Amino acid sequence: MDTLEARHRDLLARLAAAAGGRPLGLLAVSKSQPAEAVRTLARLGQRAFGENYVQEARAKQRELAGLALEWHLIGPLQSNKCREAARHFDWVQSIDRPKLLPLLDRERPADAPPLNLLLQVNIDGEAGKAGCAPEAVMVLADQAAALPRLRLRGLMAIPEPHPDPARRRDAFARMKALFDDLHARHPGVDTLSMGMSEDWPLAVAEGATLVRVGSALFGPRPPRA
Ligand SMILES: *Cc1c(COP(=O)(O)O)cnc(C)c1O
Repeated sequence: MDTLEARHRDLLARLAAAAGGRPLGLLAVSKSQPAEAVRTLARLGQRAFGENYVQEARAKQRELAGLALEWHLIGPLQSNKCREAARHFDWVQSIDRPKLLPLLDRERPADAPPLNLLLQVNIDGEAGKAGCAPEAVMVLADQAAALPRLRLRGLMAIPEPHPDPARRRDAFARMKALFDDLHARHPGVDTLSMGMSEDWPLAVAEGATLVRVGSALFGPRPPRA
């Protein structure tokens, strides 16, 4: 049967087969989906959820208060949203400029664990796309690692949705090489977030440790309200 439960179970099985014993996490991208769908997956043991917009995430978090979930911000972060992001998310995957770092560090509550960060890389150098240049990663990483309320965990990317799978696979491979360089310099990094509904098998083949899946799990997204 094509239900959320069945799609989640099938996806976990396919991920496990593709990972071949390596660690591989699933981030359920719940943007535009109702809180009830998150609750359904939480009942099945899914813990990590990704949201693109702070306000939308806050509304769901209020509805789901009491569930022990892990919230990841995966959409672009404006500096005027850093306070809320630092208070209400466990991870921010969309760090792409130095300015955000001291703001998040300052706003992360003292009684919470350090905020987990991924640096978003514009790996194909697309004009107008979020993410820092690959050459900017090391400097940004050093800055993040120096702040006490932040915990640098790795990298995130959304490669150009090129129709040729070989081109996409090449972008994932370049991300993996960058991740290995970063790991050599900051041995604590453990997360390479890449791969979405359409291309996660390619990303996993190249070394992703976390895939972000929305529509292939929840079904097509309802239009944004
Ligand atoms: C929407 C989104 C996803 C999930 O996309 P699907 O194609 O629905 O799986 C993953 N990552 C980011 C950053 C997104 O904005």
